[in-house]
Amino acid sequence: MYLGPEFYLPSGTAARWRALQRLGLEKYGVWLVPTPGWNGYRPLSIQYQYRAELGIWAAVPRTSSHGLTFNGRDMAAIDVNNWRALAPWSESLAWARFVALCRIVGFIVDFVSPQELWHIGDPDPYTIPAFAVVTINPGTTRMPEPEEDDMPTIISSPIGQSLSIGGVVVPFPTPDDVKSTKSTTGAPVQIMETTSVMHSSIIAAAARQDAAAAQLPIVVYAQGGNGTVYIYEAGRIDYLTEETVLHDLLARGAQSVTWPQGEIDSLRKQQQGA
Ligand SMILES: [Zn+2]
Repeated sequence: MYLGPEFYLPSGTAARWRALQRLGLEKYGVWLVPTPGWNGYRPLSIQYQYRAELGIWAAVPRTSSHGLTFNGRDMAAIDVNNWRALAPWSESLAWARFVALCRIVGFIVDFVSPQELWHIGDPDPYTIPAFAVVTINPGTTRMPEPEEDDMPTIISSPIGQSLSIGGVVVPFPTPDDVKSTKSTTGAPVQIMETTSVMHSSIIAAAARQDAAAAQLPIVVYAQGGNGTVYIYEAGRIDYLTEETVLHDLLARGAQSVTWPQGEIDSLRKQQQGA
């Protein structure tokens, strides 16, 4: 089945993938997307090309689970681009959530070598799963932000079109740029028609919000660290221990950055010495 450019899946896998996307959105506010390129079903010619370009990171042609068989049995595979977004402050928590969601809909994880955490497999690609509706408990782990925050919206008025995404509003330079902007995953994109005055107000409000976000502390994730999150403000770095504070900061538009753990440690040492 065609799900987007260079993204084709057998019917059963497509149903599982859609269920996985829906679960990610409902439970964690994250719309999972495939890695751009032939990272669902991969035709043999593309397998040869990827092997040539990526070496051991692509399977020997005819043995890839992206080619619909694996170790002599049916298998479809998808590379998921953004599973870490399920808990950006903690890779281990993001992984636990990802594995749990995959298991609910019937995907297997971590089954290829070298290890590819983003690579998920469907051992039953041609059977449409029985679940028409998976009931889930949005419960305690649900993100506080409304899901619509993540849904891209094209704002259209006589002054032109803008893309509203992730809390920012960016005007499209030309109508051609609008035409070339598509959701390749089947994710919903809203189109909102409005007046020139409203459109201008939205752009101005987004700019004010940007300025306000610049006043907020910066959230710092440690690269190669243990998942600890820090807060950087007025030249000081401190532990951020409350998950609710983190969510609040991000919801208010605080910027987040990833620093090497070593830099964080040396900055903290300087602070203690001062
Ligand atoms: Zn893969």
